[in-house]
Amino acid sequence: MSIKELGEFGLIEQLAKNTIVENKSVIIGIGDDAAAVVPRAGMTQLLTTDMLVEDIHFKLEWITLFQLGYKAMAVNISDIAAMGGYPKQALVSIAIPAQYGAEDIIELYSGMKQCCREYTVNIVGGDTVASITGLVINVTVLGEVFPDYMVRRSGAQIGDVVAVTGTLGDSAAGLDILRKEISGIGANNLVQAHFLPKPQVAVGQILASCGATSMNDISDGLASEINEIAKASGVGIELIASNIPLSKDLLNYAGAKALDFALYGGEDYQLVFTISPQNYNKIAQQQKTDIMITKIGQVCNNHEVVLIDDQGNRQELRPQGYNHFR
Ligand code: ADP
Ligand code: MG
Repeated sequence: MSIKELGEFGLIEQLAKNTIVENKSVIIGIGDDAAAVVPRAGMTQLLTTDMLVEDIHFKLEWITLFQLGYKAMAVNISDIAAMGGYPKQALVSIAIPAQYGAEDIIELYSGMKQCCREYTVNIVGGDTVASITGLVINVTVLGEVFPDYMVRRSGAQIGDVVAVTGTLGDSAAGLDILRKEISGIGANNLVQAHFLPKPQVAVGQILASCGATSMNDISDGLASEINEIAKASGVGIELIASNIPLSKDLLNYAGAKALDFALYGGEDYQLVFTISPQNYNKIAQQQKTDIMITKIGQVCNNHEVVLIDDQGNRQELRPQGYNHFR
């Protein structure tokens, strides 16, 4: 059905279905002039927002509306995870081109709602406007964090371990596969990692409560995130290239180039963090089977960010992104 026939209010009524997955914190959701929510007593509020513009951040030939909706929500939830926080509420604003039907927008929201169910986030409001160019999606997520456990980028201490969750580079390889229109061998897992990233919320909270001194989610590639932590903390960082965790699928797909995908690819939405060696060992020892963390380097007493290869060669690790290595 066309959005014109359904009307803006008719559309919003459809979008508003199943948006509250946890109702204790919500006084007013979609339908009034403003949403009203109650944060848990004593918690610090976290607010983050991300905007996705058609043909700049996504191409609809490559991603379904469901996947796009999922991802638009996931990238914001990941920012809350990187603070050690709990994502709670979301606001979603969309600018819709004329050729979109109501079903298209409902499909986009199915993806967002799926992600919201997985991470217990309510959609409590938004705005709907027309676009004369592409589709634009802006998601804002509100979260909360125990004030003592909030993790910034700026807290890395000399002597800390540098570590990451999960494996890196799969999502960038997935995008490469889409660009080159390759199919088959292991491609599926890599493409899935690109379409449906899994923000590390539970792990972020564990790392925060175990004393992580700094943390970032990996949206722009490990090289870029590591440089941000080093700069914000006023320290240097040394990474050991052979320690960076790579999946079997990535190694099969990219061979010798796998490390480049991990360093410069981005959109992994895993976490990179620093922590004292004592606290790292505590987590590593009691590591639950569903958490994967890997030590990849250390924080050092200079302002250099370097990568050390298998031969012991040190090379400056620049914060370059995907476009640079392509
Ligand atoms: P107002 O004119 O008061 O800003 P709107 O008519 O824009 O109200 O929106 C009505 C209600 O629907 C509000 O609660 C708003 O937050 C919600 N809303 C509007 N568009 C969206 C959307 N795309 N996604 C979620 N909620 C929306
Ligand atoms: Mg409005």
